[in-house]
This record gives sequence, C-alpha cells and structure tokens, in this order.
Amino acid sequence: MQKTAFFWDEKCFWHFGGNYALLSPVGGLVQPLVSGGLPEAPETKRRLKNLMDVTGLSAELACQSSPAASEEDLRRVHPESYLSQFRALSDGRGGELGLRTPFGPGAYQIAALSAGLVIAAVEGVARGTYRNAYALSRPPGHHCLPDWPNGFCLLANIAIAVQAARAKGLCHRVAVVDWDVHHGNGTEAIFWDDPDVLTISIHQEHCYPSDTGDADVTGPSNSNMNIPLPPGAGHATYLEVMERLVLPKLRSFAPDLVIVACGFDAAFVDPLSRMLCSVETYRAMTAMLMEFAGGRLVAAHEGGYSELYVPFCGHAMIAEMAGSAIDAPDPLATRVAGQQPNAGMQAYLSSVIDGMVAHFGL
Ligand SMILES: [Zn+2]
Repeated sequence: MQKTAFFWDEKCFWHFGGNYALLSPVGGLVQPLVSGGLPEAPETKRRLKNLMDVTGLSAELACQSSPAASEEDLRRVHPESYLSQFRALSDGRGGELGLRTPFGPGAYQIAALSAGLVIAAVEGVARGTYRNAYALSRPPGHHCLPDWPNGFCLLANIAIAVQAARAKGLCHRVAVVDWDVHHGNGTEAIFWDDPDVLTISIHQEHCYPSDTGDADVTGPSNSNMNIPLPPGAGHATYLEVMERLVLPKLRSFAPDLVIVACGFDAAFVDPLSRMLCSVETYRAMTAMLMEFAGGRLVAAHEGGYSELYVPFCGHAMIAEMAGSAIDAPDPLATRVAGQQPNAGMQAYLSSVIDGMVAHFGL
C-alpha cells in the first residue's frame, strides 16, 4: 500500500511572532509574558513531531521537507504589491503588515517554505505518489487574504497549493474542509468566485474574525458553506455536523481532491475558543473524510494552541490517515468525556444543525 507522507521542516518552527502577550501587543499596561510571543508559537507543532518520533509513528511515514513555494506559485494568489512589501520588511528587521501577524527577519522565506510543504502534500497525493499527506505548515494560512495578512497567517498556504496543482493539471475540482475553530475567511475570499473549489468552514460563530462566517454567505455559485456553531459544541455535535452537513455537501460537489484545513483549536483545552472537542473527535472526523475520499486526503496544519493537547490530536489524525496501529492515548480522555454538553444543550445544538440542514437544502 502507498505510504502516508508527512511534510515538515525545522525552519518553520523558527518563525517568530513578535512581542505579544497572547493576543495583545506588549506595552502600556500589558506586561510581557515569560513565554513570550503570540499563542501561534512553535511548540504545539514541534511537540507533535516529537510525539510521532517517540511513539514510532514517524518511522511508518514518508517524512520529508520540500522546496519553498516559488514566486510564480505565490503570485497566483497574492499581488506583487503585497509580496514586495512583505519581502522588504523580511529582508530587514521584520515588521507587521496586517492584524496580529508580526514577523521577524527571514519570515518571507519561512512562510514560502510553509506554503511549499502544502504544495508538496497536494501534488504528492494528486500525482498518486502518496496515498495521503499531512503538511505541518507554519505559519498557518487560512485567514490570509490576497493582500492582507491576519490571524497569524502570512500566506494563503492551501490556496497557493490548490492553484499550483491546478496550473499543472493535477486536479480540477477541489474541496477544502476547514475544521479550525476560526472561520476560514481567507480561503473563502480567494475562491469566492470559483465554482470548482468548494470551501467549507466549521467554526465557533463570530470567534475570529468576529464579523464573518455566517451561514447565509454561500457565494455566487453556492460553493461556499459556512457552519457557525455556538460555543460549547463538542464531540457529538462535530460528528453530527460531518454526517448531516459536510458529507452530503461533499457528495453533491464530487471533488477529485479533499484538503483539510486542520486546526486543533476546537479542542476543549484550547485558550482561543470555547469548544469541547477531543482527540477522538479528530480521529473520527478524519475517518469519515478518509472513507469519503477513498483514503486520498491532504491535510494542512492551521491553528491549535494547547501545547499539551495539539500533539495528541494530530497524532490520532495522522495515525488514522496512515492506517497505523500505533496509538498515543489521550492523556485527558476522562476529563474531556466529563465536560461534554448536557442533554438540554445537546438538544439545542442539534436544533441548530436542523436549521442549517434546512437552510442548505440537504
Ligand atoms: Zn484557529
């Protein structure tokens, strides 16, 4: 059987997100944190790779780096005006161009490498070299607009990879399933007018950005699907969303490639959201998409801010993609099971999904 590929590069962990304390720039009354920086920090990702090395999962995968995205690749999505501004600051001492996207010297090359990891993952699966592939991309990409970086995202990694693969004729109809807890506003905007790219985003309503991601925003060709959920949704709700909304939409769209914009920040211990997902939620959602896609799945890492928990969520997902028997048991399994919504809240969440099933005509 073909292998699962895992694309990563230590240099992506060297991107430095500036002098912030969680979401606020340091200064005035905001005291610097001892840990320093934004919540989008290297450790969540590096610890995922470390866990895979320690359990032996890495040894079952085709682990490798990739070339950086080329200027031509970047220009398919981003205007030269933005790229040259970014490049100039990166060649100096770094800077900040959008909202919560500070970067240090050399960030342009690191961001291009992050996009390159996703390009390699998409092309590796589209060409049939690998059964499926996971890109540990950092910085992430799903919030980035063509000319305005935001939400820790400097380049639109998945959009860049989709356009690169389509330019080479490797795929035609692509579906992006974004289960990061924040709205995939960048991917939505970039493919807004494109009937051949379905963008689905499951997110905590109005978490980030606070004014996008509503369910009635479906695009001119009905190829955008926003699934905003109230805070407090957990394992059962996410699986119900997959079963009743995501999979029917995917079946009717019939993509030739499925890409997951993979954030682990809907997990119950994440500091930037109020959702209640677990390791088992990500494992089960991966299994559902694997079944739909006949195993041919691409995943690109987006958010997820618990240094403890992200590695276990990612490990479960990648083991599922690889069909591996190696398990890294959830260290918080008992705790997360005890924190799921009560019966009343669960019924309310199901009624929200009922409304969306009717709204989307599924
Ligand atoms: Zn996120």
